Amino acid sequence: MYDFDVLVLGSGPGGQKAAIAAAKLGRRVGVVERDNMIGGVCINTGTIPSKTLREAVLYLTGLSQREMYGQSYRVKDDITVADLAARTQHVIGREIDVIRNQLNRNRVALLSGFGKFADPNTLTVTDARGRESHASAAKVVIASGTRPARPTSVDFDDRTIIDSDGIINLERVPRSMVVVGAGVIGIEYASMFAALGTKVTVVERRDRMLEFCDLEVIEALKYHLRDLAVTFRFGESVASVERYAQGAVAVLESGKKIAADTVMYSAGRQGTASDLELAAAGLSADARGRLSVDEHFRTAVPHIYAVGDVIGFPALASTSMEQGRLAAHHACDEPARAMPALQPIGIYTIPEISFIGRTEDELTEARIPFEVGLARYRELARGQIIGDSYGMLKLLVAPEDGRLLGVHIFGTGATELVHIGQAVMGCDGTVDYLVDAVFNYPTLAEAYKVAALDAMNKMRHLSRLH
Ligand SMILES: Cc1cc2nc3c(=O)[nH]c(=O)nc-3n(C[C@H](O)[C@H](O)[C@H](O)COP(=O)(O)OP(=O)(O)OC[C@H]3O[C@@H](n4cnc5c(N)ncnc54)[C@H](O)[C@@H]3O)c2cc1C
Repeated sequence: MYDFDVLVLGSGPGGQKAAIAAAKLGRRVGVVERDNMIGGVCINTGTIPSKTLREAVLYLTGLSQREMYGQSYRVKDDITVADLAARTQHVIGREIDVIRNQLNRNRVALLSGFGKFADPNTLTVTDARGRESHASAAKVVIASGTRPARPTSVDFDDRTIIDSDGIINLERVPRSMVVVGAGVIGIEYASMFAALGTKVTVVERRDRMLEFCDLEVIEALKYHLRDLAVTFRFGESVASVERYAQGAVAVLESGKKIAADTVMYSAGRQGTASDLELAAAGLSADARGRLSVDEHFRTAVPHIYAVGDVIGFPALASTSMEQGRLAAHHACDEPARAMPALQPIGIYTIPEISFIGRTEDELTEARIPFEVGLARYRELARGQIIGDSYGMLKLLVAPEDGRLLGVHIFGTGATELVHIGQAVMGCDGTVDYLVDAVFNYPTLAEAYKVAALDAMNKMRHLSRLH
């Protein structure tokens, strides 16, 4: 007899949802988590702190109100780290409370400490004081996540040279910053600090950034960031970083030197599966500390599942949660549908980006014809009311049957608005639905109707010429 039916390693989004789903199915469930990390990277150092920081930046800088009240409009002139941290800590505290409560209510046991495999069904848990205990289970779900990858050549001190975990420990808002890596996390933070008035330089080895997004949207983002005094160095790499009492100098391979108060590396993330004594369970991790799984999230050892960032792409809180729920259902022999291929992407830059489905580039490469329907926020009454003149929503439509092939949004509310497109696409809806639908007025959602009419008119024009 095992101590638990299901034992989950890690309490981030994947682990949490796996634990709750198994508990709802009546199983005895335990979650192993380190003392100060309830909620995982998501709550403590990743999604929630960064999104709360963004909200605090938007509010305190008054950036989104400047079209209305002028370029010098600010809620607070001298924004300090304490101003930003107050909101972040408040939200983190509340979220941890919600998770603890949810686990409690569902009678999920929280085993505090660092877990490692002793054998395929047993974990050794070492608590903060070094005391060891053991817990066994019929099924194990690994949701141990990732940590920032740190190049060994760089001497991180968590003050001047930091990774994304170090942002919440900054002592003051830097006057200048070098962001190494223009991935999602790097660009999100670059835009937040630029909004705070920090002079940001982004160094990216590739010639483009966020190449999985719509090209036009990324061009618009770059324009906005340059307007906030961001400098991009594409096709360049950082060779070394020199640290001084007053800051650091990033030396690029091309020989350029960039001085900054802070250098933030955002150079990908490393899986934590290699810390788990996997050999004792008959498993092994890849070179990036990740595990591979089948379509049911089972590892090579069938009673051990893995979900979330530790299994790699897309490594989002949104997908990790669903993977956790599906793994738990499979582990508990509960029928479940597969994860839909259609998944939204949200990028919380300032302004924000969101999309679902395919991009113009992907469709062109696959030789799939499409028509574009465009709505600009400045043509919407709600766009004028909120002072967003740059936002846009783009529909990619199949000319032969009007199906939506992609929805790309840039501007206020993009990450919320995308779900209307997701619902239409998920139900195999066509552009006709959006043309006929009545939307609340004045809303940003109305952009769907405007874009649908635009696509419809172009398609009609084409058919009249035939
Ligand atoms: C700065 C930043 C911003 C992000 N923004 C977004 C966003 O806007 N939207 C989005 O969807 N995603 C975002 N993400 C990604 C998101 O945070 C992750 O996809 C998500 O947290 C992964 O969840 P997970 O379940 O894999 O576990 P994680 O959240 O990675 O947590 C894993 C947990 O396992 C614990 N653990 C590990 N090993 C052990 C062990 N041996 N014993 C006990 N406990 C262990 C860790 O302590 C940790 O608490 C962001 C990430 C970062 C870094």
